[in-house]
Amino acid sequence: MSDAPAVTGTDPDSAGSGVPDIAGALAWARAQIGVMDARVLLRHVLQCPAARLVSHPEARLDDADWQAYHALVERRAAGEPVAYLVGEREFFGRSFLVTPAVLIPRPETELLIELALAHFGSRPRPRVLDMGTGSGAIAITLALELDQADVTAVDASREALWVAMANAARLGASVSFVQGNWFEELDGERFQLIVSNPPYVAAEDPHLTEGDVRFEPRTALAAGADGLDDIKTIVAAAPHHLEDDGWLLLEHGYDQAAAVRGLLTDAGFSAITSWADLAGIERVTGGHWPGRH
Ligand code: GLN
Repeated sequence: MSDAPAVTGTDPDSAGSGVPDIAGALAWARAQIGVMDARVLLRHVLQCPAARLVSHPEARLDDADWQAYHALVERRAAGEPVAYLVGEREFFGRSFLVTPAVLIPRPETELLIELALAHFGSRPRPRVLDMGTGSGAIAITLALELDQADVTAVDASREALWVAMANAARLGASVSFVQGNWFEELDGERFQLIVSNPPYVAAEDPHLTEGDVRFEPRTALAAGADGLDDIKTIVAAAPHHLEDDGWLLLEHGYDQAAAVRGLLTDAGFSAITSWADLAGIERVTGGHWPGRH
């Protein structure tokens, strides 16, 4: 960092040097994208802890950092999700790489993890399948949190699987990745636990044209007229891939819990339950597979 006088104020270019200090850069960005995103993107560019932005407001950015920050702030202002701009998102206490090939992991999906741990935390070496793994957040977290779990993760997208495999390598998780459409490549395979955060948004839902989801893969989000197409496929096939005394746990949309319970009932599941996320919305529904005796 140079000893040049700090540049502050809302227009970082006004002081002539063209390159602002931390306070100036943040003030400029905050006006466009809000204080939270302004800080996250600056930390990403400077690769520094949050505390440095507060403790060194007068530290001058170098030219390359300022240009990189400027470009990221403009992309954020145009709507791109922060997670794609910084290339990672935290899930269940770990950082996962994300690209536009995968859905950005969401905090409500941690409920799926907590339920899987509650049901299988004490079973040794559980065989687990994650359907539509995307970034691999669910499969990898379960591989790391469950005792010696044997985890398989499926996705139709080759690009998504590259991201998931990179995450598994980075986090030291052992997961078997399979490219295929739902159960297509899993003939004859059975698991004790099947989990999924499948696409579940109705194709015409206006939510798909707003905010971050505009930049996410549509195939990871939308599932037919009522959003239930993929959930129906999974529920129908799951009994052929669950061991006796297995469980199926599915994340779903805010208004789909009753419909998913109905599908599980029709398919012969028992102990069917829906659980609410932290926002109080029924977000995961599951059922026990007693087996066919
Ligand atoms: N929860 C996401 C959303 O509404 C949807 C995720 C999904 O379809 N699996 O943005």
